[in-house]
Amino acid sequence: KPTNVSEFLSNIIAPYEEMAQFDGKTVTLDVDVGQDVLIDQKRIHQLLVLLLDNALKYSDEGATVAVTAGIEKKKFILSVADTGRGISDEAKKHVFDRFYREDKTGNRETGGTGLGLSIAEWVVQAHGGKITVLDNIPQGTIFRIALPL
Ligand code: ATP
Repeated sequence: KPTNVSEFLSNIIAPYEEMAQFDGKTVTLDVDVGQDVLIDQKRIHQLLVLLLDNALKYSDEGATVAVTAGIEKKKFILSVADTGRGISDEAKKHVFDRFYREDKTGNRETGGTGLGLSIAEWVVQAHGGKITVLDNIPQGTIFRIALPL
């Protein structure tokens, strides 16, 4: 059934807003979807959690992570922008590869499997959509998902 996107995304983000406060990180939400739309709630929930986890993980204390949702050219656009350490152009080519991690030391603080983004790409493509990584000028990273409505 059609979803109120603002309410739906707010509910996903709420626990992060509380968690992030302990880390001194802030999460904001900006939704520009006027009408209720048909979206695959389970999938979008999964994707947003993946991207938010990374955005917060790779951000410094005091940083803000901005989640934006909107509709462009009959596509549902969801983007997560952080002001963290950013991703080099070389690494951008590989971030969606399975098991790829920029930090190969296995640092516990940022530890992960390197699977998150490959799963995200798989899910997005299975739904006929696209996921892209961009620089957040002047600092940080933006992950942008476009899914057909
Ligand atoms: P996890 O499976 O726990 O998410 P991960 O974060 O290592 O582990 P991915 O989510 O696939 O794995 O991310 C792959 C790599 O992309 C990361 O190791 C990191 O180097 C880089 N990366 C992902 N998101 C960001 C981000 N927001 N800012 C900077 N680097 C990032």
